[in-house]
Amino acid sequence: MSVKKKQWNDYLWIWTIVYFSLGFFNILFAWLGMIDFILPLLIAIFQGKKTFCSKYCGRGRLFLLLGKNLKCSRNKPTPKWLTSKWFRYGFLAFFLFMFGNMVFQTWLVASGASSLREVLTLFWTFQVPWDWAYTATNIPAWVAQYSFGFYSLMLTSTLIGFIVMVLYKPRSWCAFCPMGTMTQGICQIRSKN
Ligand code: SF4
Repeated sequence: MSVKKKQWNDYLWIWTIVYFSLGFFNILFAWLGMIDFILPLLIAIFQGKKTFCSKYCGRGRLFLLLGKNLKCSRNKPTPKWLTSKWFRYGFLAFFLFMFGNMVFQTWLVASGASSLREVLTLFWTFQVPWDWAYTATNIPAWVAQYSFGFYSLMLTSTLIGFIVMVLYKPRSWCAFCPMGTMTQGICQIRSKN
């Protein structure tokens, strides 16, 4: 039986760990996560393919590594409602709304209407102090506010992915991941044109 030779991108799960570690020490590194937001959309728009998901997503590979290789997943079938269209699009709409809210909070800080809050908001509800990861510099406060908001979003979605990975199949998160839903939608629109 031939063993598939590992490619460089098989190790992209390291990127996800590095990303969260950097944000633990300095929240401004959260901006690096924009790569994971913009790149899948650009690839879908210009190539009409979900290449990011199949080749370059560190998070998907991390779930596979933990769930499949390290057997942290019960490996039960993902419930049908999680993969249903209404849930996927509903979750995407909720996600985009919360993303918009985060941008609005950033704008409030930029305009001076609000002051910077050095907390993470997990699961859009729980506030966790994270002040050690930020020291005021010459960088505008809104840049830090966006970092706290974006890191919260990245961590929340990874934790949800981790929970469904344990409960169901390793990559159950991919069934309703907002980036996956968006890129799939773009590819479908492109294939119709
Ligand atoms: S669906 Fe989301 S988590 Fe899964 S591979 Fe695609 S971008 Fe990554």
